[in-house]
Amino acid sequence: MDKLKPLTDSHGRNITYLRVSITDRCNLRCVYCMPESGVNLLNHDEIISYEDILRFVSVLANHGVNKVRITGGEPLVRRGVVGFIERLSKIEGISDISMTTNGVLLDKFVLGLYDAGLKRINISLDSLREDRFHRITRFGGLQSVFNGIKLAGKIGYNPIKINTVLIKGINDDEIESFVNFAREFDLNLRFIEYMPVGGNITETIMSKEIEEKIRSIFSDFSLIAGSQNNNDNAYENPVSKDFGFKDSNAIIGFISPLSEHFCGDCNRLRLTASGSLRLCLFYDNEYNIREILGERDDEVVFEKVSDIIQLKQYKHNFNEKAKKPGFLSWANNFMNEIGG
Ligand code: SAM
Ligand code: SF4
Repeated sequence: MDKLKPLTDSHGRNITYLRVSITDRCNLRCVYCMPESGVNLLNHDEIISYEDILRFVSVLANHGVNKVRITGGEPLVRRGVVGFIERLSKIEGISDISMTTNGVLLDKFVLGLYDAGLKRINISLDSLREDRFHRITRFGGLQSVFNGIKLAGKIGYNPIKINTVLIKGINDDEIESFVNFAREFDLNLRFIEYMPVGGNITETIMSKEIEEKIRSIFSDFSLIAGSQNNNDNAYENPVSKDFGFKDSNAIIGFISPLSEHFCGDCNRLRLTASGSLRLCLFYDNEYNIREILGERDDEVVFEKVSDIIQLKQYKHNFNEKAKKPGFLSWANNFMNEIGG
């Protein structure tokens, strides 16, 4: 079918990128993402079906969405994920399917995912030390993550992106180890500023501080020209500021939703595990897509989604929110529900 009119918001931004949380469940309980007791999980019948996701994606693909990122919770704990990726990769117009995973189950799934058409993988890893990994995730499994990273490299994933959140007093002394790790395995490691979502508050270490620390150790650490046009990042900030070294293929990036946000270029939408559309990570408003998918005609679905898209804010207001007395969190949900 010919591409129909693009999905454009009221600020003239073409929406081309959809992040889909396929589950709110997770095999870890990262301290900055979920409370130790876990969160109230959705009942199975409240989770959006693969069928509904596939139809939604194919409607949007007809209107210019070409990138889909699968996330969670932990996407690899949802049954049938490989078959789902395979079907997703067959949707005309979808040229890039990626996944964000904690990597614990990656060594078991990565070959199947690759064959199914998963193009890119981001692995979240916040410590290189087993004891710390356990403290942060409240579970073990670091060795499995390492195995998954190595296997992904062997299969042909390149680059492999690592997402690292530094938390003051817990893992902020591992900056040099992370850089050495990236250099050893030619990884693209991105430090992401911690975001107080869901009330798990700790102090954020800003990107600039990390950048300066690395520069004090690696004198050839320098900005890669043009990297700020890299429209491929995890959060509302579409700009990863990427740095390299003279003697290594490793890339160290900074994703700075707090200190440098670039909402003006935001071209993404989020579909939550319950099947709600979220227009911005930091606004709690959600729109029920499962209900809209009750419409049989794809173009009616599109028109309804398009009406919702017009409500997409030009930029988030978390900095203003954060200044208010009693501020605890930017969003009411925990990250595992929204998908990061
Ligand atoms: N379970 C998968 C994982 O951990 O990669 C996918 C879902 S997780 C919610 C997606 C990303 O969100 C991870 O890279 C994680 O580090 C990040 N994340 C979760 N809570 C965060 C927070 N409060 N601030 C910054 N990043 C966060
Ligand atoms: Fe699970 Fe990912 Fe959240 Fe950690 S960040 S608890 S791995 S969903």
